Amino acid sequence: MSTPEELQREVLEVARTLIRFDTSNAPEAALGRPPGQETAAATYLRDYLAEAGVDCELVAREPGRANLVARIPGTGAPGDDGGPVPSLAFVGHLDVVPADPRDWTHPPFAAVVDEGGWLWGRGAIDMKNEVAARAVAMAELARSGFRPRADLWFIAVADEEDGMYDVGMRWLLEARPDIRPDLAINEGGGERLPLADGRVVQTVGIGEKGTYPVRVVAHGEAGHASTPDVGDNAVPLLGELLRRVGRGMPSHTPSPLVDRIVADLLGTPPDEVGTDFEGAVARAAALHPVLAHTLPALAGTTMAPTLLAGSGKRNVMPARASFELDCRILPGTSAADVERDVRARLGAGVPYELEWPEHLVAGSASTPDSRLMDAMARVLAASGDDAALLPMLGTGFTDSVYLREAGTPTAYGFSPFRATSAEVITAGFHNADERVHIEDLALSVEFHLDLARDLLG
Ligand SMILES: [Zn+2]
Repeated sequence: MSTPEELQREVLEVARTLIRFDTSNAPEAALGRPPGQETAAATYLRDYLAEAGVDCELVAREPGRANLVARIPGTGAPGDDGGPVPSLAFVGHLDVVPADPRDWTHPPFAAVVDEGGWLWGRGAIDMKNEVAARAVAMAELARSGFRPRADLWFIAVADEEDGMYDVGMRWLLEARPDIRPDLAINEGGGERLPLADGRVVQTVGIGEKGTYPVRVVAHGEAGHASTPDVGDNAVPLLGELLRRVGRGMPSHTPSPLVDRIVADLLGTPPDEVGTDFEGAVARAAALHPVLAHTLPALAGTTMAPTLLAGSGKRNVMPARASFELDCRILPGTSAADVERDVRARLGAGVPYELEWPEHLVAGSASTPDSRLMDAMARVLAASGDDAALLPMLGTGFTDSVYLREAGTPTAYGFSPFRATSAEVITAGFHNADERVHIEDLALSVEFHLDLARDLLG
């Protein structure tokens, strides 16, 4: 058994090594080199885990973009209640979003540790920190002779940030139907929020919103710009439609899941939230600055206007002009729901039509009431952490969506943060100066060790 100090040194070493592999993932045209190139990082982790005695395998659709699958096999022994014990997966991705060194205090792939104990680098939060902590927990469990009652998996995949090449989690689960953990712990939670009322909560990502962008095309009649009232310039028509969309905050779509999140924050029963949803969200959002933007966006389909197109020539008033709405949808929202919401917002009196540039990508969520949630609460309480767990729906995508689709009912995002505030996490996420406090790397190792022992021991 390693001492806490040894584990702290080990996880820092693994995290720094992972950050130094530049696994930037974006289209080749933008990067100037092939995207991802995760195989070097996956190979390093394979060698590290194999040395600790873990069964490891690289599974690649493309040679440069391998996924690592590792497992400590379960004994099959029943649980204390006599029933079967669910298998557990530690999950993460090895790729990162690109970083422009000109924007950074320290070079993004140098893995600098400063005097304050901060580890700087692309992936320090998203999510080489978590991958390192899960790998070190896995290695320590194997070295200490841990015999889980059910399989303990470690899955580190390629291509989460872009996904265009389909060489990561979605493909892996399709290619390998033997990888079907019952419980999975991935990215998307663990932020610690001191609330305005004195309570402290830690977020657990229980689900993610989906996407369904729409293009709104205003229809007018072309004309020469020297006589503006000849024809029917589509640009002012589009301007009127844009005004009606506004910032694109959602109209309320009733959702038991969102009511539950708001109710947990307010400490009230979920059915009370439903009776005055706007008021309840406003009260809950006021509890922490991070909640002020995320909670109102969970009320339904957001429709932020982004891409604009009008005339190709200044002296031509166009017959058509368009904007695209970046729609983010709650789990369970259908294409017809989005169309109805968008048309309701655009109203009558201005001629337009809708186009759908991409397929609907559904969001999904796991129930917050699970063996995994109970075990997480026990482990954190036993470590002296009195922050309550707060189920939360993410506004972005994670591989947990693919895990749920393939048959893992409970996939959560969680890795505990204490020294790294929610503000630091949010500021560095997909941005310059991403950093994590090294105490949180060790904290996460301890959490994953205790979680595996609690659930599978
Ligand atoms: Zn990520």
